[in-house]
Amino acid sequence: MMGNTATQVRCHTCGTWNELHSEADLCKSCHDPLRKVSEHEEQNREMRRRSWEIDVIIHPEDSLLMRTGKKIFNAVQMVFMAIVAFFIWLFFIGPG
Ligand SMILES: [Zn+2]
Repeated sequence: MMGNTATQVRCHTCGTWNELHSEADLCKSCHDPLRKVSEHEEQNREMRRRSWEIDVIIHPEDSLLMRTGKKIFNAVQMVFMAIVAFFIWLFFIGPG
């Protein structure tokens, strides 16, 4: 595997594996742009990332109590995420 750092990308159209050297690379078999696949995967990744952010949507028709409760939930969640991030950071820094 020495020197083989090129990304292998599978053509979305014909299924041929291509080495991706630049974003403008085309499939060596059917000449379809290979970026289509990576863009699709980028969207998937973005969606997975967003699924972590479980913000409660506050509707205008919610009662004051409901709106306050949701706001508190969002705030608590943010603090909780910050604490988790802090502990992850501590874990990586390690003792000493
Ligand atoms: Zn192809």
